[in-house]
Amino acid sequence: MADADIINGKAFAEGLRHRVSEEAARLKADHGLVPGLAVVLVGEDPASQVYVRNKGKQTVEAGMQSFEHKLPDDTGQDELLALVHRLNQDHAVHGILVQLPLPGHIDEKAVIDAIETAKDVDGFHVVNTGKLAIGTNDAMVPCTPLGCLMMLKDKLGSLSGKKALVLGRSNIVGKPMAALLLKENCTVTIAHSRTRNLADECRAADILVAAVGRPRMVKGDWIKPGAVVIDVGMNRIDAPEKGEGKTRLVGDVDFDAAVRVAGAITPVPGGVGPMTIACLLRNTVVAACSQKGLEAPDL
Ligand code: NDP
Repeated sequence: MADADIINGKAFAEGLRHRVSEEAARLKADHGLVPGLAVVLVGEDPASQVYVRNKGKQTVEAGMQSFEHKLPDDTGQDELLALVHRLNQDHAVHGILVQLPLPGHIDEKAVIDAIETAKDVDGFHVVNTGKLAIGTNDAMVPCTPLGCLMMLKDKLGSLSGKKALVLGRSNIVGKPMAALLLKENCTVTIAHSRTRNLADECRAADILVAAVGRPRMVKGDWIKPGAVVIDVGMNRIDAPEKGEGKTRLVGDVDFDAAVRVAGAITPVPGGVGPMTIACLLRNTVVAACSQKGLEAPDL
């Protein structure tokens, strides 16, 4: 059997960002509307700082407005909530993202639920979570699973009737991914740390989405021949072959083995990762349109 097709998330994300920029230019020209994204970062976490910088850079590159709010680690919950309320009222801001994780003294859920639901471009607000769960079309959908779904539909066309296995049940990836696949009429199984016979569950799946956070946990012989495998995992492991103290990023799937069995697979890096920010930009444009009473573009 031939090796799997490699799903090029980087190229896919570039295509989506290009469509977003075109739409942003059209909104500006036709309606004087410049979509704006506010990103709030509390503290000095180095990984979060990189994410926030990339989000801001890509927002501006797409022709949209970026508002960055960097607050010190000891910012109180009331101060953060006051900022969220100000952003809710600000007509130039169409999307609000509070970078997670927040410092331990802040109640993350209270902050997320303070975001105006129409501006909740991360899709973590309980109202958007509920809309996704009941399958309405106006939910703000979390960016990582949305990116996975776009790549799956691009690869397979209709997903209807396919058996899908989502490995992981977090609120930011596993559960919304399962809800999206159900909405596409897949037969969905959600697996987690208490699942029995995990390898057998995986082997039954036409679509396997791994979001577990364990390096190369999914083995080649867990995969149904020809299945489409989406690897969300981002795990940093030691890479002595690159030099002392060096690390590298691997997914939750044993790629070298899986590529010989699957029909298509996303690599790590270069698969799901690049799609996440592209989907954030897409959600911001959609949010801006709905706040202006314009029809949302099909991006
Ligand atoms: P969480 O830690 O929140 O969730 C992990 C899930 O995996 C849990 O549901 C857990 O089960 C399950 N799990 C853990 N160990 C096992 C096991 N041995 N067998 C079966 N299931 C297990 O992780 P996230 O959902 O936040 O992230 C998952 C991965 O995706 C991480 O590597 C993360 O870095 C990556 N990620 C990548 C993004 C991107 O943009 N590419 C964005 C977000 C995440 P239980 O619920 O029972 O504990």
